[in-house]
Amino acid sequence: MYEHCGIIGIFSFENDNVAPMLLMGLEALQHRGQEAWGISVPRAPPFKRIGVLSRSVEREYKRISKMKGKAGIGHVRYSTTAKSTLRNAHPIQIDSHSNEYGFSIAHNGTLERELIIKYLAKEGYSPPQDMTDTELMGLALHINIKKYNSWLRAFEDLNPFLNGSFSLVILTSKGELVAARDERGFRPLCLGWHEGSSSYIIASESCALDILGAKLIRDVEPGEIIKISKEGLKSERFSSQKRHAHCPFEYTYFANPSSRIEGINVYMARKNIGRLLAEIYPLDGDIVVPVPDSARPAALGYSERSGIPFEEGLMKDRYRRKGTWRSFIEPKKREDVVSNILAIKEVVDRKRIILIDDSIIRGTSSRIIVGKKLKSAKEVSLLLTFPPVMYPCYAGIDFPTQKELLAYRVCRGVKDLAEINRRVGRHIGVSFLGYNDVEHLSKGIGMPASELCLSCTTGDYSCLKRKPRFKTRKEMKG
Ligand code: SF4
Repeated sequence: MYEHCGIIGIFSFENDNVAPMLLMGLEALQHRGQEAWGISVPRAPPFKRIGVLSRSVEREYKRISKMKGKAGIGHVRYSTTAKSTLRNAHPIQIDSHSNEYGFSIAHNGTLERELIIKYLAKEGYSPPQDMTDTELMGLALHINIKKYNSWLRAFEDLNPFLNGSFSLVILTSKGELVAARDERGFRPLCLGWHEGSSSYIIASESCALDILGAKLIRDVEPGEIIKISKEGLKSERFSSQKRHAHCPFEYTYFANPSSRIEGINVYMARKNIGRLLAEIYPLDGDIVVPVPDSARPAALGYSERSGIPFEEGLMKDRYRRKGTWRSFIEPKKREDVVSNILAIKEVVDRKRIILIDDSIIRGTSSRIIVGKKLKSAKEVSLLLTFPPVMYPCYAGIDFPTQKELLAYRVCRGVKDLAEINRRVGRHIGVSFLGYNDVEHLSKGIGMPASELCLSCTTGDYSCLKRKPRFKTRKEMKG
């Protein structure tokens, strides 16, 4: 079982109650997961609920407002595998806060379960079959923290067996906040300071800091562990790995456009990619239209560079429940999500449209948008900000099986990008399709390709500790 989510941890030096701040921060991270949410404060079991945070807060305000503490952690969940149950929601209590080494943990990422099980076997433990990757990691850390009484030693010892991605926050029974980021830095994690409450904040994205009026200090470094207690903040390294592998999907699709990740603003990265797409594919068209919402900055960039007018030809109905769902999160519901996208006929009718989208994973939503929503257009050309996704992701994004990837299904063995464009374009039903390539993706983001994870497009899994065994959706989702 694996998670791709948003996390937050807050420690106040002023004895302020951080629970309301945790809730506000989580709301700002809601785009990272809408299946479940939870918070954990000292001396209380984690409070967790299914669904989006705002609905639970409206329903259960009295209970939620009883959660108090000068330190706490929180989580919003989007499962990449395993069922969407309350049991699988985070934070997960690994051992009670009334025990000396008790802690709760909130994790964003994906870890290979088998390797942690191997570590636990070495330590003489045989965990239950249904334990999630987070629970297995938590159990191993619990063993280590009891053994070493040092979070640094706990992570150092376990790290060779942590294959995949983790950005995490831990709340200990002593009321300390611990944060760690895997040695490759797949998923984002940043550190901020909130002056009003004298609090350090650790969050998946800086948009959570902005909403709280906190200042971004820096990113948590890959391989770094931070401990915050009443003695202050202590930073150490559990790994000196130099080759980082930040996920470019965060820039093109997942993260909030206002966030800064590794010093790069997500909106600007998307816009740059759009400008570069206009250079690679200088198409002739009447209007540039984004697939809402993540492709909007790229469409603006394409329009700016090409001189072709930008138009909002497709709008998301934000007032219906699924209007804000991310379209590839739940495969069975993708058609529901796309049904909430409405075409503005006056804009798209009889036009030659240059449609910009972030990626094609399974192809379902692109086919519906082109074939149904834009059927009155004269012609549709589709440009993608992300290169062809041919291989599954085992570092935290939900496309875990190769069989479901459209580019793999229709282009098996094809290396030539022009041929891939032709085949996928034919399948989607557009007059032209153009994928971005790795060179322009990295240039658009402003980060060398050697600092990015590109496994899903190159098939090179050398950023992982060992090549994953490709799994079926049943194996991953249970
Ligand atoms: S495999 Fe793809 S989606 Fe997954 S972390 Fe790497 S670049 Fe991101």
